[in-house]
Amino acid sequence: MAYSDTARAYYDGELKTISSAGLFKHERYIHAPQGAEIEVEFPEGSPPRKVINMCANNYLGLSSHAEVVAAAHGGLGARGYGMSSVRFICGTQDIHRELENRLTAFLGTEDTMLFSSCFDANGGVFEALLNDQDAVISDRLVHASIIDGLRLCKARREIFEHSDMAQLEEVLRRHADQRFRMIVTDGVFSMDGDLARLDAIVALAERYDARVVVDDSHAAGVGGKTGRGTHEQCGVVGKIDIITTTLGKALGGASGGCVSGRRELVAMCRQRARPYLFSNTLAPVVVSGTLAVMDLVTRSTALRDKLEANTRFWRKGLTDAGFDLKPGDSPIVPVMLYNARLSQDVSRDLFDEGVYAVGFFYPVVPKAQARIRTQLSAAHDPHHLEQALQAFIKVGQKHGILGLKQDEIIARFGE
Ligand SMILES: *Cc1c(COP(=O)(O)O)cnc(C)c1O
Repeated sequence: MAYSDTARAYYDGELKTISSAGLFKHERYIHAPQGAEIEVEFPEGSPPRKVINMCANNYLGLSSHAEVVAAAHGGLGARGYGMSSVRFICGTQDIHRELENRLTAFLGTEDTMLFSSCFDANGGVFEALLNDQDAVISDRLVHASIIDGLRLCKARREIFEHSDMAQLEEVLRRHADQRFRMIVTDGVFSMDGDLARLDAIVALAERYDARVVVDDSHAAGVGGKTGRGTHEQCGVVGKIDIITTTLGKALGGASGGCVSGRRELVAMCRQRARPYLFSNTLAPVVVSGTLAVMDLVTRSTALRDKLEANTRFWRKGLTDAGFDLKPGDSPIVPVMLYNARLSQDVSRDLFDEGVYAVGFFYPVVPKAQARIRTQLSAAHDPHHLEQALQAFIKVGQKHGILGLKQDEIIARFGE
C-alpha cells in the first residue's frame, strides 16, 4: 500500500495540531457573485445568509461590474476559452499584448509582461535578474510570494526592519562592492495598510546605485490621485525599476499578475522567468475582462474617489464610536483587538449581525496584535456602511471594548 497507515496517521496528527492551536483555516462557501453583499453558507450545511462583505480586495467594486462581465463574455466568443500553450509556443494572442501595453501606460513604465498570478510574477522576477554577484535587500514584512521568489535566486539576501531607512542605508553601504543591488518592498503592506516610504527608498537607490522593486498589489488601481498606485501617491512615477502587481484585487479581481518596468529588465524576464516560460498565461476571457477594467480606471477616477469617500466615512464612524484603529488613509482599516480569542468572538458576533469581517491573529500578525481587518470597496453604498457600522457598535458594546486603548484591552482580555 503506497499510502500507508503511518503516513495517514502522521498528516492526521499534523492537522489536529493545527486545529487544537486554533489555527485551522475554515473556508466559507459563497453562493453569489463577489460584491458588497454576498450570500454565505456558514457553518457548512446551513442555508446561505446575506451579509455585508467587509473583507474583500474588491477595492473598486469591479469583480462583478456589468461592463467587465460583458467584456469577458465578448472575449470568450472572440478568442475562445483556452490557449493550451505557454506564451512563446502558441499561447500569445493580440489581446495579451494589448493588455500589456495598457498596463504599461497606466503604471507609467516602459514595458509589461503578464503572469498567471502576482505570486508567479514574484516567483520569476528575481531569479531572472540577479545572480551570485548581486545583493537583494527586502523589507521585513514583504509578501510571502516575494520571500519565495527570493529563495529561488542566488543573490545574497538581506532584510531591513520594516520601513527602517537607516538600516536599509547601512545594508546598501555594506554591499557597495556587489555587482548590483536591488531593494524590494510592498507598496502597501496588507496587514496595517501602511505605505512603503518610496520617496526615501528611491533617494537611497540613487545614492547607492540600486534597482527598486515594488509589489503594488494592494494599490494598483487605487493609490494616488489617479489610482496608478503607491508610486503615484509618493511622487515617484517613472522612478521604480520594477513594479509587480496583481489583477486579482482592485483590477477586476479575477486572476493574473504582471512584471512592469524598465524595458531591458522586462525583456530579460520574458527570456528567463520560469513561471512565464513553463506555465500558461491568462485565459482570453480574463484578458478581455481586464481590458474593460483598464477602460474603466483610465476613463474616470469616480470609483477610486468613491472608495476614498467610503474609507473616510468608515474610519470616522469607527473612531467616533470608540474603536482603536491603525492610522492611515488606505482602504485597509484594521480594527485592533490585540487578543486572538476576542478577534474570533467579535468576528463571529459580527456575522450574526450580518457583517462578514475576518479576525487575524498570530502568526498572520505579530503576537498580541490580533485584529479585524476591514476593507472598503467602491461597491459599498452608504446604506451598507451605515448598517455595518451599527453592527460593529452593537458588538463592540457587547464586549465592552468601545473607548478602550491597547493596554486597557490587554488588561481585560489578556494578550
Ligand atoms: C495578493 C498579493 C499577491 C498575490 O497575488 P495573486 O495574483 O493572487 O497571486 C502578491 N503580493 C502581494 C503584496 C499581495 O497582496
